[in-house]
Amino acid sequence: MRVHLMDVAAQQPGTRTENHERVIELLRTRGPLTRAELARLLDVSRATISNVVGALYRDGVIVEGADAGTAGPPRQGRPGTPLTLNPSAGAVVGIDFGHTHVRVIVADLAHTVLTEQCRELERDHDARESLETAAALAEEALTAAGVDRGKVLGVGAGLPGPVSTLTGTIGPSSIAPSWVGLRPADELGALLGLPVIVDNVGNLGALAEVTWGAGRGAQVAVYVKLGTGVGAGFVMGGRLFRGSCGTAAEFGHLTIDPAGAVCRCGNRGCLETCVSLPALLAQLRTRQGPGFTADDLIRRALDGDRACVRVLTDAGHRLGSALAVLGNLLNPDRVIIGGDLAAAFDILLPPLRSALERDALPFAVAQVSVCKGQLGERAVALGSVVTVLHASARLAGRG
Ligand SMILES: [Zn+2]
Repeated sequence: MRVHLMDVAAQQPGTRTENHERVIELLRTRGPLTRAELARLLDVSRATISNVVGALYRDGVIVEGADAGTAGPPRQGRPGTPLTLNPSAGAVVGIDFGHTHVRVIVADLAHTVLTEQCRELERDHDARESLETAAALAEEALTAAGVDRGKVLGVGAGLPGPVSTLTGTIGPSSIAPSWVGLRPADELGALLGLPVIVDNVGNLGALAEVTWGAGRGAQVAVYVKLGTGVGAGFVMGGRLFRGSCGTAAEFGHLTIDPAGAVCRCGNRGCLETCVSLPALLAQLRTRQGPGFTADDLIRRALDGDRACVRVLTDAGHRLGSALAVLGNLLNPDRVIIGGDLAAAFDILLPPLRSALERDALPFAVAQVSVCKGQLGERAVALGSVVTVLHASARLAGRG
């Protein structure tokens, strides 16, 4: 029998108030929080939170952070101790489809990663074969984590391409062509027999950093994923902004140079044609030869190689100018740089910051902090976990 968190919360109808449900939702979507943080986020008194937390604790819906996974006596009332949902109430699977890998993470409802597995894919892999690989890897991960399938709330999966929330199909993307037009949520759902949510890697990286990493506490966060493609995600008030059909934040396709190279989207001079890894490597091909890799570029730049530093500095300027547009439109308090190129963050930041301050309205970016993502190559799989936690009330048929 599948046991959902919302079923647990509904076992005693009539005993839950709106505040109980809001505490459950906050712990589910944001992870461990103290009583003081809950009181602030819900704008209620400490006494109210103590009553709500006490009831949920007695019902076994939540545990104190330090008690998670232990059978020790509760240490109720310590204001600084983080609270989490009861980890035994359910689990979530997060999947990241990259150009050359698939990664699977299983986490519990206390936001603890139980296991993580990764497998390589061919660069021109067949999408359906990759979905089967991911499904098999997810089954292995659940077994390794000792999680009963009946306790899985859902599966999240990230792909480097636009995903329509209207049709579930993948648009033209930087991943292998066999993905385009596919409905991966339906296909993966049929393979696993579980509800699946698919989103693009920019959105999921943003959710992950805001929940687990460099974006924690941000009011308006802009996440930029710099790698083979250029993706982004906007999180406002803890919620992802997806636009009307799921394709907001296509930052990589802002027109930067009307006379520039033709982009894979069909337009000319998109940001991605200037600052993606293939674009940067192409600038160095004459000097470095065809075997020059992204790792070579970053390592040599960090060692002070003049041409490599120049290419990254120019990319930083371009990014800063493009981010100035977002600064004026969104007035973010946090910009997070993730993806493979984040390894060169220390070189990118000075020109990025200088162009951002030059091109944006001063008061629009006065408070913005530009930082490096903390989650590295795990960001998308973790974001896939978070997106399921955000949607789990709906997945349980109660939202
Ligand atoms: Zn484009």
